Amino acid sequence: MGIVDTITSAFEASTNRAPDEGGDDGSKGSFWCDDCGNRVRDVEVEREGLETDGEGTPFCPDCGDEMRFERATGSSCAC
Ligand SMILES: [Zn+2]
Repeated sequence: MGIVDTITSAFEASTNRAPDEGGDDGSKGSFWCDDCGNRVRDVEVEREGLETDGEGTPFCPDCGDEMRFERATGSSCAC
């Protein structure tokens, strides 16, 4: 019984992510800093006032490293 509880909790934790990606605001994904765990959506970069490398890639506000772009998966149709 204890094992089942543990598995259920882990499952819920891994699927309980906020559905905040792939919305209808033009966002194509998010920029990540793996070291700091920072995430900034592409549509938030300008709003946040982050520095970029001139091609739209922002630098992490904490460590200054170039952030990694990850496309959002979700509601967008791939037809
Ligand atoms: Zn960082």
